[in-house]
Amino acid sequence: MLQDQTFLRAPGPTPIPDRVKHAMNQPMIGHRSPSFAKLFADTSERLKPIFGTSQPVYTLTASGTAALEAAVTNTVAQGEKVIVVVAGAFGDRFANVCEHNGYNTHRLEIEWGRSVTSEELKRTLQEHQDAKAVLLTYNETSTGVIHPIQQLSETVHQYSDALVLVDGVSCIGGVPGNMDQWNLDVLVTGSQKAMMLPPGLSFVALSKKAEAKLEEGNPSFYLNIKAYQKQLENSMTPYTPAVSLIHGLQEVSKMMEEETLDHVFHRHQVMKEMTREGIKALGLPLLTNEEDASPTVTSVKETEQFKPDELRSFLSKQFGLTLAGGQKELKGKIFRIGHMGYCSPADVLTTLSMIEIGLQQLGVDIELGAGVKAAQEVYVKHV
Ligand code: PLP
Repeated sequence: MLQDQTFLRAPGPTPIPDRVKHAMNQPMIGHRSPSFAKLFADTSERLKPIFGTSQPVYTLTASGTAALEAAVTNTVAQGEKVIVVVAGAFGDRFANVCEHNGYNTHRLEIEWGRSVTSEELKRTLQEHQDAKAVLLTYNETSTGVIHPIQQLSETVHQYSDALVLVDGVSCIGGVPGNMDQWNLDVLVTGSQKAMMLPPGLSFVALSKKAEAKLEEGNPSFYLNIKAYQKQLENSMTPYTPAVSLIHGLQEVSKMMEEETLDHVFHRHQVMKEMTREGIKALGLPLLTNEEDASPTVTSVKETEQFKPDELRSFLSKQFGLTLAGGQKELKGKIFRIGHMGYCSPADVLTTLSMIEIGLQQLGVDIELGAGVKAAQEVYVKHV
């Protein structure tokens, strides 16, 4: 293999477009300078359509987990009850964040590999009428399940007065945020997935209802949204931001605008379908059904003929291809293909063709080209 050639197809971090790399390479500027204020005013505005909100979007120099922590600790008083839907490793993370911060945390445990239903959520809301917030994972990265956030948000608002806090870390930028339309109270994401940036930034937006709760929260010093709110009035951040990443964010936003958000979302749908049809044509089992299938990551189950971790290790050595493995209870049982951010249908075809070679070399009974062909057929249907 070419020594420096790699194919990063994990569900984050994801590849960075050259344009964005160049933008991040600009000379450093002071974070209290007029140039920075101009840049930051621009990126903060350009994030709004990605989140689907007219509310401010705050930029944190911190990874996605910090944004999860900011979401709950700023809007819910310590000790209050929260309901967390746990349908995978990141729902579990959200619940851990709550437990660590002293919330009375009710976990609504869902079998890994499917989404929670409105009915299940309704029952839980009726049993826990004192819940102040419902915490949802829009896209459960560990399983490749997308949750029906619009319906779930409707259910919460219909049966309670709780806030709807949504972890959109592994999908915002690849699927609609629709925060205002769907009445989401807090929506967060991170930089390193569908947002086509390196790790290091996360973004948090709050509805007016969530803003009104800021007085009740007890956030850490660093994650206090009121400080970000105050500084955003001057188009600045309270603490030194990752200036280079914000240059990158400006370029990412321009790229999305040029492609149009509708097309970005469509491209992710096409890549999902191509990946799933390709895998099915090879006779491999998918973890999730069609309805729950994520537009950004696909999980493929082991069979008697191959071990996912052996396949990943072969593909990494042979081609420099990175696929993700299973996490926690799915460790060793699945492999995951990331298809988000700076990823095109052509990348999906390349990835499937490498997977086919890997499977064949591990002795799995497949026909070379069958997966690629099925994916090509999906692509052609959409042209
Ligand atoms: N939530 C989801 C859905 C994720 O996929 C991740 C990371 O993979 C996180 C939260 C945590 O983000 P970070 O690792 O940036 O802290």
